[in-house]
Amino acid sequence: MKVVKEVFEVREFTRQNRKKTVGFVPTMGYLHQGHLALVEQAREENELVVLSIFVNPTQFGPNEDYEDYPRDLERDLELARSGGVDLVFIPEADKMYAANAATKVEVTGLTDKLCGASRAGHFSGVCTVVSKLFNIVSPTRAYFGQKDYQQVLVIKRMVEDLNFDLEIVTVPIIREEDGLAISSRNKYLNQAEREAALVLFNSLQRAKELIDGGERDVKVIEEELNKKVEVEPLAEIDYLAVVDANNLEKIDQITSRVLIALAVYIGETRLIDNLVVEV
Ligand code: AMP
Repeated sequence: MKVVKEVFEVREFTRQNRKKTVGFVPTMGYLHQGHLALVEQAREENELVVLSIFVNPTQFGPNEDYEDYPRDLERDLELARSGGVDLVFIPEADKMYAANAATKVEVTGLTDKLCGASRAGHFSGVCTVVSKLFNIVSPTRAYFGQKDYQQVLVIKRMVEDLNFDLEIVTVPIIREEDGLAISSRNKYLNQAEREAALVLFNSLQRAKELIDGGERDVKVIEEELNKKVEVEPLAEIDYLAVVDANNLEKIDQITSRVLIALAVYIGETRLIDNLVVEV
């Protein structure tokens, strides 16, 4: 496994392997089973796997956890190696963004909703860095987790709109045994918060139960979700919504594929989770 920091080194690698298919997995590091599921699928579907580790400053708001975001490069490299990654790209922030950089990639519409509504500028930061990484790595396919459902939709939109020559592959959410979606940010949780964090998965399950039982009124389901989260004293809802899974638009009645999505603060830690239900 090669580990490189410079853009020209990645380009050299891809140039040398021009004839091979490349699966690309962009991450912010502190790798876990969720990331490794992306790597595994990338390995199955491509001849080479490139993983990037970059805590991207431009996708964090001023009061968010950029400085505190968990980092453990040594462990990450071990996991990447055991996952069969061929090249790890670990750029420095000041190399990714020149001091006079003046270009941003903005997807409109889709980014006004859910996480975009509560994290101003977040998706612009994501789209800008992902575009740069796509241009640096030139992958055949890029792998993203359904855990960040809105991110996948936004990036697919961007890829289509800007004619990036690659395929976006979505990988299902990997969970702990009790249902909690695995996330690097779970590290922030103390024991009481870790238990409280189950409220995300449990309320999604409750919403699914209602839908499976025939409930189609979105208001009823959202109210039930609200109630279910609010009984947890350590939880504070950021947003919670049942929306059209194709475009994140609001709906009154469930008629096809819906996304149940929520962002909840458990103590200081903001966690997200979602579930797609087909009727
Ligand atoms: P991050 O390092 O948190 O930016 O995540 C990098 C990629 O891993 C993103 O595409 C995430 O959606 C994906 N990912 C993170 N957690 C999970 C999970 N529990 N299951 C599946 N994919 C995940």
